[in-house]
Amino acid sequence: MYEWIAKLNAVPFIKFFLMTTFSYSDPKSTEVSENPILLPSILELSREKLALAVIDMGEKTFRSTQLWRSLYRERVLSFDDISTLSKSFRQRLNETYSISPLSKSMFLTSSDSSTSKALYRLNDGELIESVLMRYETDGHRRNRKTACISTQAGCALGCTFCATGQQGFRRNLTVGEIVAQVIELDRIAYKEDQVQVVEGKRTKGELQGVTNVVFMGMGEPLANYDNVMASIKVLNDAQGLNIGARHITLSTVGLVPQILKLAEEALQINLAISLHAPDNVTRSQTMPVNRRYPVEELIRACHKYADLTNRRIFFEYVLLKEQNDSIDQARKLGRLLNGLHCHVNLIPVNPTKQGPFERTDLQSAKEFQGGLKQYGIPSTIRMEKGIDINAGCGQLRERAVDILGT
Ligand code: SF4
Repeated sequence: MYEWIAKLNAVPFIKFFLMTTFSYSDPKSTEVSENPILLPSILELSREKLALAVIDMGEKTFRSTQLWRSLYRERVLSFDDISTLSKSFRQRLNETYSISPLSKSMFLTSSDSSTSKALYRLNDGELIESVLMRYETDGHRRNRKTACISTQAGCALGCTFCATGQQGFRRNLTVGEIVAQVIELDRIAYKEDQVQVVEGKRTKGELQGVTNVVFMGMGEPLANYDNVMASIKVLNDAQGLNIGARHITLSTVGLVPQILKLAEEALQINLAISLHAPDNVTRSQTMPVNRRYPVEELIRACHKYADLTNRRIFFEYVLLKEQNDSIDQARKLGRLLNGLHCHVNLIPVNPTKQGPFERTDLQSAKEFQGGLKQYGIPSTIRMEKGIDINAGCGQLRERAVDILGT
């Protein structure tokens, strides 16, 4: 029954960029860079290691703070742009490190300009994807820009609905490779803000760049636990990117031991679970991880997480007509989540051209929502935009392999 998801060719962050129709906004916007970066990236260093490296280079400790701010607050592209540092120090930095470990290979913007998707090449030739989502003020929340980032090249978990999962696992991303995605998108977002200030569309106080980060790109973040935790620390640093923990969301398909470990970290980040089915039979058909960590075990871990962190958990549930959107299934989901401090995002998804499934209409989605409400489960229906399945996670990489022949 759940071949629906397999047909979708969709993604871990289905809820994000499947909601936007992508197109090449302008052939000129597609950049191809083949320059290899040979020196190690300075973004691999934690704040503490950067301080030690600066001292090793014969400089005072406070220089590392200046350097850190330039890298993460000012997003400099070159050490030569850091005017607070001496010329000789900049020279030594140039000889020892590169800044970004990413080179941009492709950049696409949706036809409504709300979403851009970037393809980056890593030093060893691997390709990863990142997405910048632009949200207008919606009455409840200020306008915001969300960076959706990858944590692995490929993925070992093999969800049948995911293009990345079908490509197999190649390697974990390093801390620098994870953080650099946010810096790259932040640079773009900030420039756009500056243009809007000049145009009178926003005030100088709204020069904010990327405001939110979601770990929902290629890979399973909790399978690259240490590097993801280290990158959250960097993103969160008040003298750097300064992304508040509550503006960071980590999405997982449900690695139970890591969820329990995360609960002990005392972070204020948001945890999102890709659930998509209310029972083991249906969930296991598309998400092999469910055979290792069945639904009941996953929900028990979620209870522990919510108890320890006092944080609400978000569940993602893709709705497909006559597949998983019945009132019975809503009640089943309601019973499963009953008593858990959580919120469910219901995502009616458009079918692929070749897929047999129809989109759950708004009325049916509301009825499903009503079924959840009977159990006191709050939910939101996301029907913002049209969905183009070809924009799914891993799809851009596949396209690049065709275009670039790599
Ligand atoms: S866990 Fe891996 S295979 Fe599953 S949706 Fe996420 S990236 Fe794809």
